[in-house]
Amino acid sequence: MNGSSGNGAAPGRAGDWANRARGMLAGFPAGAAKEAAALIVACYERGGKVLACGNGGSAAEAQHLVTELVGKFERDRAPLPALALDANSAVLTAVANDYGYDNAFAHQVDALGEAGDVLVTISTSGDSENAVRAVLVAKEKGLATVGYLGEKGRGRRLGGLVDVPVVLGARDTATVQAGHLVLTHTICGLVEEALFLNKAVFLDRDGTLIVNRHYGSDPDGIELFDGVVEGLLELRAAGYKLVLVSNQSGVARGYFDEAAVARMHDRLQRMLDRHGAALDGMEYCPHHPEGDTSPYAVECACRKPAPGMLRRAARKHGVNLSASWMVGDIEADVEAGRRAGARTVLVGPETAQPPPDYRAEDFAAAVRHILVVSGDVPGSAENVASFGP
Ligand SMILES: [Zn+2]
Repeated sequence: MNGSSGNGAAPGRAGDWANRARGMLAGFPAGAAKEAAALIVACYERGGKVLACGNGGSAAEAQHLVTELVGKFERDRAPLPALALDANSAVLTAVANDYGYDNAFAHQVDALGEAGDVLVTISTSGDSENAVRAVLVAKEKGLATVGYLGEKGRGRRLGGLVDVPVVLGARDTATVQAGHLVLTHTICGLVEEALFLNKAVFLDRDGTLIVNRHYGSDPDGIELFDGVVEGLLELRAAGYKLVLVSNQSGVARGYFDEAAVARMHDRLQRMLDRHGAALDGMEYCPHHPEGDTSPYAVECACRKPAPGMLRRAARKHGVNLSASWMVGDIEADVEAGRRAGARTVLVGPETAQPPPDYRAEDFAAAVRHILVVSGDVPGSAENVASFGP
């Protein structure tokens, strides 16, 4: 076969699938998609997880949905628990071999599903026996159920069984599958927006908010830098959550205990609260691999430059990390912020490699930059550039 016959045979035909998809998407079931997303948001809010399943192209779509939830869709944020029941080939073949393919998903829903979870079944026909059986077990166990369906599936069994049927208006498998992809993105976008609507500024403690004392643990020694209270108030007014993230390896080294850290943070919080600038959260890492005090002398996921404290706080406070900032005075702060997916400001004379998004002379300059970039105070792009690294 040569190229010219291929080109000549189907100039119009090549646009057929796109035209069908366009027609189907013109009637995209936005209301049902919103209902499905709301069901999943409520599931995550009560600590549940999402299970998804399908056959063939729909198996791939189930994995696609799970990928966006566990990884990320459009926002850096805490991961969301989700599992694709068609992804573990050993389990799938074992269960199919022992109990028949019709039970391949139902058996897994029985094993993994808990009341409050959501099962998403994806079926262009609306009639796949293994999907139907999975839904029946899910209902028995108290899971909520969503069906990704096509026009043919509307009147079939799945359409009548699931709590929220989302029907894409096409009869052919290919066009329905194109709609299912858009549905996955719609659901993930709505779920992220609902669960991660806050923005935060993560704040290093020693050398950023307060004067650095060598392994400081004396509440009477706390000295706030100039401009900190005013800066925190401005950030709060711009809608930022304020979260302290501090390495306190003095605990692992045996210089002071966690109660001393708590006394420090209690005093700091009271000093800020006096001005209405109390922090929304305080995280610290008591660990260090070279410490000598059990159980703190360990490697951990929270000591900066690791992003663990930022991720933990992001989960607690529903934070969109892509819209957030880390402000600190050393390279480890910058790296932790970058690894968490936030933008970074380095305050003071230290350097960092790779460099921060911005270098600020002092805390007030850091705050000014954040507010200008996020459009909360008037300022031009030129102004931002002139403060740049
Ligand atoms: Zn730690």
